[in-house]
Amino acid sequence: MIIKLVVATKNPGKIRELKALLADKGWEVLSMDAFPSIPSVEENGDSFVDNALKKARSVARFTGLIALADDSGLEVDALGGGPGVYSARFGGEGLGDDERSALLLKRLEGVPLGERKARFRCVMALVTPRGEEYVVEGVCEGFVGQEPRGKSGFGYDPVFYLPSYGKTMAQLPPEEKNRISHRAKALEKMVEILARLLERDL
Ligand code: IMP
Repeated sequence: MIIKLVVATKNPGKIRELKALLADKGWEVLSMDAFPSIPSVEENGDSFVDNALKKARSVARFTGLIALADDSGLEVDALGGGPGVYSARFGGEGLGDDERSALLLKRLEGVPLGERKARFRCVMALVTPRGEEYVVEGVCEGFVGQEPRGKSGFGYDPVFYLPSYGKTMAQLPPEEKNRISHRAKALEKMVEILARLLERDL
């Protein structure tokens, strides 16, 4: 039996990743594109969990299908865990990825590497039409570098330094990032939950 799962994102990269992971496991992954009239959800919660649950609940209610949503961001210890849930809007809505990374470097000017600890965090929420809710998270630890390096990835990847590689996230090949990222780790846990769900009567 094939069960439908709606992913609450329009990001083609995330959909591709999920399809690849779930296609041969009994799931048909649908994106929001399959539901053009779906109302958009404002990500205005003050935690990753709030935002992920809000999106998954709304999509499950609208579609009557199992819905999966995620929310993620960068937490910098020297900024009290910021920009965190505000990562996409850090510095204002008008900035691009490079400008946001430059602003982050500016805020950390003069802070030595040892005090630039940071992590990417991803929370994934799954909500069933019956109203059952599952939440998992994945983190990827590193440091904010002194300057941007690398061209891969997106967001803060060029300024996110991974000491075990001696490289930034944007210098890693995409396959490697997809193996170690916060999203990959959260997804691994969610895949286990999805496998258990398939074993029982949905
Ligand atoms: P979203 O949860 O995918 O919407 O991500 C929110 C924001 O967090 C993005 O706009 C990025 O600024 C940042 N972010 C999340 N994941 C990553 C990543 O893998 N690399 C770099 N930045 C990320």
